[in-house]
Amino acid sequence: MLHPAQEPDPDASANDASGVYAPIESIADHSISAYWEAHEEVRNSIRGGMDSRAATEASLEYLVSCDPLTGFLNRAGFLTELRNIFMEGPRKEATIGILIVDVDYFSAINDCLGIAAGDETLTVVAQRLRSTVRPAAMIARVSGDEFAVVDEFVNEEDAFWTANELMAALSFPMCAGGSTIENTVSIGIAMARGSDTPECLLGRAAAAMHQAKRSGRNRFEMESLSDAGQVDVRFKRRSELRRAIEDGELRLFYQPQIDLASGQMNGFEALVRWDHPERGLLDPSAFIDFAEESGLILPLGAWVINAAVAQQAQWHRLSAGRPPVRMSVNISAIQLNDPRLEELVTEALDRHYVAPEFLTLEVTETALTEDPVSALKTLEVLNALGIRLAIDDFGTGHSSLTYLKRFPIDELKIDRSFIAGLTTDSKDRAIVVSCIQLAHATNLIAVAEGVETPDQLHALTGLGCDLAQGYFYTRPMSAEDLEPWFVPRPDTVCLDWQELVDQ
Ligand code: C2E
Ligand code: MG
Ligand code: MG
Repeated sequence: MLHPAQEPDPDASANDASGVYAPIESIADHSISAYWEAHEEVRNSIRGGMDSRAATEASLEYLVSCDPLTGFLNRAGFLTELRNIFMEGPRKEATIGILIVDVDYFSAINDCLGIAAGDETLTVVAQRLRSTVRPAAMIARVSGDEFAVVDEFVNEEDAFWTANELMAALSFPMCAGGSTIENTVSIGIAMARGSDTPECLLGRAAAAMHQAKRSGRNRFEMESLSDAGQVDVRFKRRSELRRAIEDGELRLFYQPQIDLASGQMNGFEALVRWDHPERGLLDPSAFIDFAEESGLILPLGAWVINAAVAQQAQWHRLSAGRPPVRMSVNISAIQLNDPRLEELVTEALDRHYVAPEFLTLEVTETALTEDPVSALKTLEVLNALGIRLAIDDFGTGHSSLTYLKRFPIDELKIDRSFIAGLTTDSKDRAIVVSCIQLAHATNLIAVAEGVETPDQLHALTGLGCDLAQGYFYTRPMSAEDLEPWFVPRPDTVCLDWQELVDQ
């Protein structure tokens, strides 16, 4: 092992507000430590008074590459130094490895205790990171609550050892905003290989960290070997998807939702497709997960919201005299935690003159439970705007019934896996009955997804379910295919779904 066991002293570091990181006691003779030497030099010259021009240049460089809160490198500085480390290469028989350390549920600290407490937490995390890893390791704050540690490791176990030490040091209670808090972290590890670039290595470590989050947090994950060769592919896929969003390759399909009491169309759910130039029309299962992992879900989701609302307005114009069309749009957990969501939705509604009550945003239970404090805040804001909210795929996530009480939800969409067994499996039937009763008892509209057979439809009508959608009525259709339905005809005030399908 390269690392001597270091006993972190969390309390000492938590109270040490003076230094941005612990003093460097010994600097090993290799590239990573060279960074710290240079870094210290700049800091000392600024402190010690060099001639004013040199000092200004040094402090400018410092500002551009460093994070003022922790004193660590910021993302830009980190990437520059990582490239230098790659150029010099590791010592013989050692491998460069990256650990991406992300504080679990960090936004809850900001939300509950305030931004100052969040900053305090990050400072303590930074101090503990510094005092836990080898002095020669490079540490950076690469984004809000995400840190990167770069060091040389003799093998994977060596990196695991460091990850374990970090988890132990960071889970120690700490003081922030006058409260004692206990944090956990999720860590992703990647080890450099022959033809690696710094960007690839960083990408793999970030992917491993996301895997650790998905596996339940408070753990570390080593990059999966199958990921290694895929990083290039992922970079390509990312630029391909970005281009698709920017160049108009995304399409929306719409699936009608039927009011079971009247048999009339109640509205539509917008479902995104990618009209790929080579692979044809792709379902969301082919790209939504990737969009979430790569961060592209934000521009993609923004496009979907705007396009769905624009279509709503267009249909409304075509069907003058009829009530406005209701539209449901799926949003992912990342969008729900995006502070710009409210502005984005409001802008789309204003731009197309659509009233908020005709738009429903669908979120899954999992999205609600990922960061409930932040989700509640966002949903309250959206609810105050008058936008309707639905829990999608109900029954498949980690549901907590408290959420139904606390969250301003309007609809509960029963997952199609239960509807599939409604007429053949007594347990599925019991679940569907309970979901409908639960929805009505909490003043929510019950929506059945994935209705495929007349038996299912009859059973749902008998159980008092409010709305239904599924292949029994129609598969999701393009706007052009649905358009004839919206052209006003003198003989009809409103149509039922069968007329739509027959047209
Ligand atoms: P979802 O929101 O639960 O949408 C319903 C899915 O069930 C749709 O699949 C729809 O085509 C399918 N479906 C509808 N009726 C039936 C049926 O009778 N039988 C069966 N077997 N399936 C039926 P799709 O369009 O492939 O979408 C899958 C998921 O992708 C959606 O599930 C939603 O979670 C996600 N998604 C779709 N569009 C978007 C989007 O714009 N943004 C985000 N974040 N997610 C989206
Ligand atoms: Mg949905
Ligand atoms: Mg669903």
